[in-house]
Amino acid sequence: MGIKVAKFGGTSLASASQIPKVKAIIEADPQRRYVVPSAPGKRSSDDHKITDLLYLCNAHVQQGIPFDDVFAIISKRYLQIVAELGLSLNLQSHLDAIKTEIANGASADYTASRGEYLNGLIIADLLGYDFIDAAEVIFFDKNGLLDSDLTQTKMAERLGKHERAVIPGFYGSTPDGKIKTFSRGGSDITGAIVARGIQAEIYENWTDVSGFLMADPRIITNPKPIEKITYRELRELAYMGATVLHEESIFPVRQAGIPVNIKNTNEPEHPGTLIVNDAEPISESGAITGIAGRKDFTIITVEKSLMNTELGFGRKFLSIFEANNISFEHMPSGIDTISLVVADSQLNSKLDKVVEEIKQQCKPDSIEISPNMALIATVGRGMAFTPGIAAKLFGALAAANINVRMIDQGSSEINIIVGVETTDFEAAVKAIYNAFVK
Ligand code: ASP
Repeated sequence: MGIKVAKFGGTSLASASQIPKVKAIIEADPQRRYVVPSAPGKRSSDDHKITDLLYLCNAHVQQGIPFDDVFAIISKRYLQIVAELGLSLNLQSHLDAIKTEIANGASADYTASRGEYLNGLIIADLLGYDFIDAAEVIFFDKNGLLDSDLTQTKMAERLGKHERAVIPGFYGSTPDGKIKTFSRGGSDITGAIVARGIQAEIYENWTDVSGFLMADPRIITNPKPIEKITYRELRELAYMGATVLHEESIFPVRQAGIPVNIKNTNEPEHPGTLIVNDAEPISESGAITGIAGRKDFTIITVEKSLMNTELGFGRKFLSIFEANNISFEHMPSGIDTISLVVADSQLNSKLDKVVEEIKQQCKPDSIEISPNMALIATVGRGMAFTPGIAAKLFGALAAANINVRMIDQGSSEINIIVGVETTDFEAAVKAIYNAFVK
C-alpha cells in the first residue's frame, strides 16, 4: 500500500477546534503515515501567527527589551491547545527551555522554528505517532543552501525506522548543528522533502482552500476549481500571483514524480487540485487551465529601422538594464522593435537614467514608455494542440473593447500573455474567463 505524506498549514492547526479535523483526516486513511505540521496560524483575521510572535520575541531580545509579555501569549496559546485537546503532554518544560534559549540570545531562525517544533510535539502526542526532530533529517550546507543529497539519504534512512511519524515543518540544521529555517511558508518544502524521502505515492498539502481556482475569486464570482494541473502550468500561474504553495516545494516532488494534492481541512471530501508531471491535454476545444495576472509593470519599447541587421543591438540594449541592476520579465520583439516588460519594483527611480543610456548607446529612432501596465497569463497545456485559442482570446478582448498593448506567447506554448492598461485589468480577466469557461 502506498504512503501518503500529509502537510497541514497554520490555519488547519490554529486552535483546539481545528486540530480534531486534522486528527479525523489522518485517521480516515491508514496510508497517511507521515505528518508535517506548520506552527499555529491565525484563528481570525485580527489574530497573530505564532511564527510572527516568535520573531517578535527575538526582535525584543535584540533591542534589549523584555519579551516576557509576547512569550506569555505564545505559551498561553499552546497550553490552551494541549488542555483543550485533553493531552497529558508536559509542554511547560519545553516552553521554559525555549524561553531560556531566547533570553540567552538564540538566533531568529532557532526562535522562529520553535513554533513548528512545539506543534509537532502536540500533533505527535495527539495521533500517537513518533516525533522526529526536523533538525535530524533536514540539512543545509555551510552556505545555507539545502543539502539535498545528505537530506535525502538521512531522511530515507530515518523514516524507514518509523512506521508513523510527525516531522515539524519549516526548519533543519546546518553543519555546525545550528537551526536554520526555510523562507516564510517553508513547511511546504519540508512536506515535499519528506514525501520524496519516503517515496510517497502522494504529497497531500492541507490548507484552508480547496485547491486552485481557474481565476481570482476577487474578480470572478465563483470561479471553477482546477482539478488537475501540471507543474509547468502551475509555475506559469504562480509566477503571475496565483499562489497556494511555496514555490521551492515543487522541486523535490516534481523530480521524484510524486503528485501533490492541495486539499481543504475544512472540506476534506472536496477533491482539491492535483498537481502532476504530465496530464492529457484538456480535450474540449478551447479549454484552458487557468488565468492569472499581475499589475504594476512598465513596457519600454525601442524602434530602429534595420534593427535586425545591426549586430549586437540586443546585447547593447539589455546590458543597460543589467548594468542598472534591473531584471526583466518578458521581451517581445519584432523586426525593428524590441520591448522589455519590467516590474515597477525593479525600475524604481531608475527609468530616466535608463532611457538616457538607451538613447546614447543604442541610438534608436524612438523610445516609447508605457507605464501602468498589467499582464494576464492564460495558461493551458492543451493550447499548443488546439487551433483557435488565440483567436478566441483576442476576440473576447476586442469585444470587451480592451486594447491589447503587448502579446507574448512563451515558447513553451502553454501560455499566452497579454499586456493591458491597469485600468482594463479586471475587465480583461472577466472577458477571457467568460470566453473560455462555460
Ligand atoms: N510557520 C512558518 C511561517 O509562518 C512556516 C509555514 O507556516 O510554512 O512562515
